[in-house]
Amino acid sequence: MKVIIVGSGIAGLTAALHAHESGHDVTIVTKGDLGDGCTGFAQGGVAGAYGPGDSPSSHAADTQIAGAGLSDPDAVSVLVADGAERIAELIARGVGFDRDDDGSLRLGREAAHSHARIAHAGGDATGAAISAALVECARRARIPVLTGAFLVDLVKRDGVVRGIRIRRDGVLSTLQADAVILATGGAGQLYAHTTNPGGTTGDGIAAALRAGAAVADLEFVQFHPTVLASGPAFLISEAVRGEGAVLVDDRGRRFVFDSHPDGELAPRDVVSRAIARRAAAQAAPVRLDATMLGARTLALRFPTIDRVTRERGFDWAKSPLPVTPAAHYLMGGVVTDLDGRTTVPGLFAVGEVARTGVHGANRLASNSLLEGAVFGARAAAALTMPWPLPEQEHTPSEMSLDANLVDAEPGFTRSGLQRLMWDEVGLLRTGEGLTRALGVLQGWAGAPTTPTTVTEHEDANLLLLAQATAAAALKRTVSVGAHHRVDTDATGAPSSSPTPSSILETV
Ligand SMILES: Cc1cc2nc3c(=O)[nH]c(=O)nc-3n(C[C@H](O)[C@H](O)[C@H](O)COP(=O)(O)OP(=O)(O)OC[C@H]3O[C@@H](n4cnc5c(N)ncnc54)[C@H](O)[C@@H]3O)c2cc1C
Repeated sequence: MKVIIVGSGIAGLTAALHAHESGHDVTIVTKGDLGDGCTGFAQGGVAGAYGPGDSPSSHAADTQIAGAGLSDPDAVSVLVADGAERIAELIARGVGFDRDDDGSLRLGREAAHSHARIAHAGGDATGAAISAALVECARRARIPVLTGAFLVDLVKRDGVVRGIRIRRDGVLSTLQADAVILATGGAGQLYAHTTNPGGTTGDGIAAALRAGAAVADLEFVQFHPTVLASGPAFLISEAVRGEGAVLVDDRGRRFVFDSHPDGELAPRDVVSRAIARRAAAQAAPVRLDATMLGARTLALRFPTIDRVTRERGFDWAKSPLPVTPAAHYLMGGVVTDLDGRTTVPGLFAVGEVARTGVHGANRLASNSLLEGAVFGARAAAALTMPWPLPEQEHTPSEMSLDANLVDAEPGFTRSGLQRLMWDEVGLLRTGEGLTRALGVLQGWAGAPTTPTTVTEHEDANLLLLAQATAAAALKRTVSVGAHHRVDTDATGAPSSSPTPSSILETV
């Protein structure tokens, strides 16, 4: 079977290796170099019930709680059940996970996990280690790769996806295939502050939307609580708080306990909102105090963070770091079944581009690398299986928005879109702000309608996704997980609150 895999992060490379090893004719298409995307940036690690006293059912329970009850129990069961096999596979493919003296995996603890269950490599360089090992395996297997090839759109024949349209070196061309696996990652570039690299522009979700695939849960955007609030966004891993670092306000007080009994180890959305509110109240960033861990531990356990913060002029062994939340992970995406099949025959989606149902309204820390490995392998195994009838449980996000909401707005720019999304479709949302954002997004003059460059394709994709995200957020009036409406109560009825922009002005 001829299979095109779009994307070369953990999900795409896992799918590619499995499909190739099953005898399929595989081509990897990727936007930049082989192995680019978010995967290489992952710091914390890969969650799994590997340690004594832990169990897949405990991991599943934590995943469900983090997902605010909206995770699909079947998808979660698959994730935790297949996890051990996928970690063994990563080890076999050459990932050198950190180990204790007795040879067992050295496990870290992260927020909202009831056990230490995060396998990591090179301290805080897990993603880089995974990416390097999988890229090397793909090269050794001589899987054909088209680098610098931008997925423009999916090609359908008789309702079935039969290939892709790409732009490479400025030229448009079509690649035929029997099946396409989308592994294009998330859409962090929708926001002014994000941990995601520049190419994370939601191209795969946008292409799937245009091809008529069901997309869901775009309103569930996870904001990472702790990004260095100085210079370009740089993530300070949750594992730092897992090791004992604490968040303090300008008086040195641990303020997160005001919001949740687990304090700094509460779910990410709770910690992010607590930070945003505190920072607004004191008109300055809050600080992450890791000084109690000592210079030696910080350098050994978190070598990357240690190096980068020192390069930026901070000594985190001596004084707390200024931190801010930033868009980090998209729980929603292209709707799939348990084998990565979308609602359009011939099209699979795996990794962050997919909405498998694992994460519900909020992702449990370090479950996404695992999800990419688990569902990448499952999609490859399902390539030759018959396509089941779609369940139509999820409908595509509403794209037919009211064109008369506003008069034409001033010209589109990417940074303008990112600022608008941050202000109105960010951590704290109101119906008024979301309606305003939708109006601006719809009326934006100068947005690329017939893109002729990669940047224009990305801009068009960001605009499409921004509209879908704002529409989905407006529709969900009740706060749940990462989606927080400050203008409604627990039933979705109106309540009086400050606007998000005024709360977040200083963040
Ligand atoms: C700073 C940071 C730290 C993180 N830490 C962790 C962690 O510790 N644990 C954890 O589980 N998760 C972590 N995550 C999340 C995790 O890294 C991602 O969810 C995961 O790597 C996504 O993998 P993926 O294969 O789906 O996509 P990605 O790794 O993002 O890869 C996407 C691929 O698609 C390609 N692509 C995109 N668009 C196109 C296009 N138009 N045409 C062709 N190719 C395209 C890209 O070039 C890339 O190769 C972190 C994320 C970040 C940003």
